[in-house]
Amino acid sequence: PVVLGIETSCDETGVGIVRGTELLANVISSSMDEHARYGGVVPEVAARAHLEAIGPVITAAVAEAGLSLDDIDAVAVTSGPGLAGALMVGVGAAKALALSLGVPFYAVNHLVGHVGADVLAAEGQPLSYPTVALLVSGGHTSLLLVRDIVDDVELLGETIDDAAGEAFDKVARILGLPYPGGPQIDRVAADGDPRAIRFPRGLSLPKDMAAHRYDFSFSGLKTAVARWVEKRRDAGEPVPVADVAASFREAVADVLLTKALNACADTGVPRLLLGGGVVANARIRDLAHERAAAAGVELRIPPFSLCTDNGAMIAALGAQLIRAGRAPSDLGVPADSTLPVTEVQAGRA
Ligand code: ATP
Ligand code: MG
Ligand code: FE
Repeated sequence: PVVLGIETSCDETGVGIVRGTELLANVISSSMDEHARYGGVVPEVAARAHLEAIGPVITAAVAEAGLSLDDIDAVAVTSGPGLAGALMVGVGAAKALALSLGVPFYAVNHLVGHVGADVLAAEGQPLSYPTVALLVSGGHTSLLLVRDIVDDVELLGETIDDAAGEAFDKVARILGLPYPGGPQIDRVAADGDPRAIRFPRGLSLPKDMAAHRYDFSFSGLKTAVARWVEKRRDAGEPVPVADVAASFREAVADVLLTKALNACADTGVPRLLLGGGVVANARIRDLAHERAAAAGVELRIPPFSLCTDNGAMIAALGAQLIRAGRAPSDLGVPADSTLPVTEVQAGRA
């Protein structure tokens, strides 16, 4: 079936179209620039930007696919988790589209959508299940055990404070680098020494591992960087920005991959999928390849355009639900900013 997917959970208005596992269109409009002067995503600004972008982005995606609206067999949408007002725009648009075209409507989970992206990049070799998935973005840092993408997803752990992307953005600010900070830190860190400063690996001490083996914490790391930089400035010494950036990036990459590969080892699942915008990070990618190879774990990283928030992954998850014979969602299902990851499809009859 031809499925149109809509994603508006954060700052990207994304509309993608797939035919089964074939990607036909993936159009994204981001309001990132509008949030830059605030140093983070402002919910009201994001919702308003979605409202302005959603119509044109749907039109552009249908054109990119070389189709007309009549060719759409089903509509899928992210109904949560995410920013409440932002989600509401996408859910409203998806319901209106499904109702007016007379096609089935599927409300799906954003985080599981990131896992669903794999089939679009798989070239006939889709990921087998079970798999461990590590999703890292500006809003999430989650470790999942996916036994079956349509109905058996378990949350192994998540951040107990800041998301990893948020930490990149805050540390960039401390170093005087512009928003979004992830790409900036990555660029600057290339010239630094990752062993120059030993920054803390959150929730990695034996006493923390007992209760938080798969959880993450990045606020202590951010504070440690702030203190280190402050001390230098107070002493009137220059701040070695490249070394700080490289050491910080190393701490994030190390803790993310240590915990993800622990999960693979503990569960006996030799597969790891990465997703989310932070996966663009060069050191995280390199370390993931290195450690996965050493552990005999198959590593999957979709291309960047399918790692950041997008509508194609939502369409792909919708297509997988249809293939599994799932009935459509109730058109009365609301946007749910805290939709749990165990609920792959919302509003099931
Ligand atoms: P959500 O959490 O809902 O998925 P989001 O918009 O916050 O939404 P993405 O768009 O997937 O998430 O990712 C944006 C985040 O990724 C930002 O915090 C940004 O700093 C970070 N990021 C982007 N490139 C890099 C990089 N090279 N290294 C580290 N972080 C990066
Ligand atoms: Mg984003
Ligand atoms: Fe996301």
